[in-house]
Amino acid sequence: MTYEVGDIVKLKKKHPCGSFEWEVLRVGADFRLKCCGCGHQIMIARRQVEKNTKDIKGRKDGKTEGRSDAGK
Ligand SMILES: [Zn+2]
Repeated sequence: MTYEVGDIVKLKKKHPCGSFEWEVLRVGADFRLKCCGCGHQIMIARRQVEKNTKDIKGRKDGKTEGRSDAGK
């Protein structure tokens, strides 16, 4: 599974606000995710994200082509 900053991931766990979707703000050993429902930010271990990911919806702006080179 590949995660990149800007991706929207859908997790199995529901945030208390009711949203399943999180925006990836930072990747690494730990991820920083922002809840798409309420804007709450969390730090979470990569393996927890991988375990709980149902779906990756791609970038918020819809650009999926050439994303590996974007912003370099
Ligand atoms: Zn939330």
